[in-house]
Amino acid sequence: MARDVSAKCRRCRRTGEKLFLKGDRCGTAKCGMVRRAYAPGVHGKKVSRNQSGYGVQLAAKQKIKRIYGVLEKQFRKHFEEAASKPGITGDMLLARLEMRLDSIVYRIGLASSRAQARQIVNHGLIKVNGRKVTIPSFEVKVGDIVSANGSKLGKNYFKNIDQAIKNKKDFPSWIRFDASKMEAEIVSVPMRDEIGINVDAQIIVEYYSR
Ligand code: SF4
Repeated sequence: MARDVSAKCRRCRRTGEKLFLKGDRCGTAKCGMVRRAYAPGVHGKKVSRNQSGYGVQLAAKQKIKRIYGVLEKQFRKHFEEAASKPGITGDMLLARLEMRLDSIVYRIGLASSRAQARQIVNHGLIKVNGRKVTIPSFEVKVGDIVSANGSKLGKNYFKNIDQAIKNKKDFPSWIRFDASKMEAEIVSVPMRDEIGINVDAQIIVEYYSR
């Protein structure tokens, strides 16, 4: 599956805010937004003009795509599936993106970023309902159990993960996690205010409705 391979710090600088795409590094002085808090490119330091309505819609869409690391084709598919169901399309779009396996692995603290989560899923370190799943975009459902692959628990990767999970402050309320078993149960679909991403997802509906 294609993925966004553009430089992560450039994505933050283009968005104009920290998107926390690089895990621990994002909280240090090495953060690209600390060192160069302006847009990339030769005209990056220019003061930008007021954005048009289209520009605001496009920026909101690009921001969500950058956060979840999905490309246009896949993002559009998520949007169309959210739009085909009853409910608020913008909120349902975010909930769908949150229910991707890589996003859940990141949320429960088994990875420090969504990119790292995608990698450990690809490497077969994660199971869903007891079966190995290697597709980062796999759609997890309410009631599913996401766990670390037992046969890989001895790997260096999992050695220090306990402490990282204990230190995690923003644990999602819609996931029940058992640290002793390294097992997470999805108890509900996340509500908009539980997702905690500062973007008006409804603007994206306007973008695709043009
Ligand atoms: Fe964004 Fe993290 Fe890079 Fe900072 S270090 S610019 S938050 S990806």
